[in-house]
Amino acid sequence: MLESGLDKLAHWLRLLGVDALLLEGEVSKKKVLEHPDRVFITTSRKLEKHLRAWGVDYLVLPKEDWKIQLCLLLKYFNIKGELKFNRCYYCNTELLAVEKEQVKERIPPMVYIYGEDFTLCPKCEKVYWKGSHHPRLKEILKKVLHSC
Ligand SMILES: [Zn+2]
Repeated sequence: MLESGLDKLAHWLRLLGVDALLLEGEVSKKKVLEHPDRVFITTSRKLEKHLRAWGVDYLVLPKEDWKIQLCLLLKYFNIKGELKFNRCYYCNTELLAVEKEQVKERIPPMVYIYGEDFTLCPKCEKVYWKGSHHPRLKEILKKVLHSC
């Protein structure tokens, strides 16, 4: 679970298939303890003593560029640097494979023609597909991994 503000990091973890919750708003004992099995990820050294007192697993990241933070997390959790596209980028829910006919009304006509591998988020109903953005994301990830 990541503190708010680490949005970009959470989004990238989700692209890699990692179950990455983002905590909204201020960090509180109640909110953190609602997810006892999750490691809490923060950049706040100040928070550390509280997290220790609450008895939660946590990790303090340096206040660095998200790319450096992502490298650290990949190493720490032994995450494979491979795009999975199996989780909603926005809400972290696991995606369901759908036929494009099922989502026809909700995608642009060009995507209907050329898109492949459609998935749907059952929670926020966002539709995903394999398209021209995939090579771009792969390229960004490659650069990140290269700099690790
Ligand atoms: Zn979603």
